[in-house]
Amino acid sequence: MEPDWIVLRHGELTLKGRNRHRFEKAVFEQIKKAMRPFPEVRFNREFGRVYIVLGGAPYALIAEKLKNILGLGSFSPVYTAPLELEAIQATALQAMQALVEAPGTFKVTVRRVNKSFPHDSQQMNKLVGGFVLRGMPGLKVDVQQPDAELRVELREEHALIYSEVVEGAGGFPLGTNGKAMLMLSGGIDSPVAGFLALRQGLQIEAVHFHSFPYTSERSQQKVRDLVRQLTEYAGDIKLHMVPFTNVQTRIHETYRDNLLITILRRAMFRITEKLADLHGASALITGESLGQVASQTLGSMNVIGRSVSLPIVQPLICMEKKEIIKIAEKINTFEISILPHEDCCTLFLPPTPSTNPNLRVVESIERRMDWLEEELEAAVRATETIWIQPAALDKESPFASFF
Ligand code: ATP
Ligand code: MG
Repeated sequence: MEPDWIVLRHGELTLKGRNRHRFEKAVFEQIKKAMRPFPEVRFNREFGRVYIVLGGAPYALIAEKLKNILGLGSFSPVYTAPLELEAIQATALQAMQALVEAPGTFKVTVRRVNKSFPHDSQQMNKLVGGFVLRGMPGLKVDVQQPDAELRVELREEHALIYSEVVEGAGGFPLGTNGKAMLMLSGGIDSPVAGFLALRQGLQIEAVHFHSFPYTSERSQQKVRDLVRQLTEYAGDIKLHMVPFTNVQTRIHETYRDNLLITILRRAMFRITEKLADLHGASALITGESLGQVASQTLGSMNVIGRSVSLPIVQPLICMEKKEIIKIAEKINTFEISILPHEDCCTLFLPPTPSTNPNLRVVESIERRMDWLEEELEAAVRATETIWIQPAALDKESPFASFF
């Protein structure tokens, strides 16, 4: 049995007044956009709730889309039945049998909006509950802490019946907290950082540094694939491909000792900040996790971070690698990230990179590179910007080409 409607619930945003309204509107906008490939879908607002009326559109495909809508707390597939006891009972049983996880206990909650329906809600609780119990041997009633709640709403024209609760992505609606530049390598961490930033309401533009021809075209493709995965949550994302070869080789010609990584990373941050200014973003996002590698000690991050004045958002800073991997698997970036690639920063690695660089020393080395600022500007000018769009839906639709 296919659901006919979907009921939507907002996340537990602890927001009041105007902000709450703004956020709810933003979530709804995203949902409307995600439903564009399904012209048969309609929306229905009743009793303070928003429903999707499927009109024959495929529930499974739409549920997959809804799971990626940031700021949506949860949703439930809804079955409709005519206002007749037998039909309601049969549909209720089917809704319970359709639960992904078979419940041990349940309770029925009936709401009678239509007062002309012959049984009141107390009677209906028993009539529907008893029918389901007879149909599902082993199932028990628990009104305090049931595994599943079966809801029956007796409306004017029909009954709505639902039980399954599907978790949404939660968080803040897309872009409601501003825009930031995601420094995206081909690794495991930065795509996860990008997802967490999106979920916190930041719109992102991705920035990737490559050292073509020393790093391959395949590595660039990998980055495009990672961004495409993030578009499942964000819609179209701008990707800035920064040619870093000239900056890197010139720095390496002048200096190749243990502060090299620090100086290269400061150059990357400064270029990203320039791109942020150009594109109206107000923070940088990185995938750093404290202690993971030499450049991710507090000492290093301090010296690297001081190269820019925009805030640096590091969503993974206190996370363990295995937590990060778990999220990467959930958002389907892990399989892409573990494919082989060449990182621009591993090109000219010094034998022992410093874990505790000295800011003054670093700054004095940089001052001697009087061409550095001009090289950074040149890299910004040579940056190629492309739009990455979500993969096409696996559905024949006149709208599919827009996605
Ligand atoms: P990741 O798994 O994201 O590659 P990492 O553990 O390999 O991270 P580093 O190589 O030290 O760590 O990079 C730290 C952060 O710097 C990355 O998470 C990313 O935000 C940024 N970064 C590194 N390399 C690049 C690159 N080529 N282009 C853009 N950003 C980069
Ligand atoms: Mg890396």
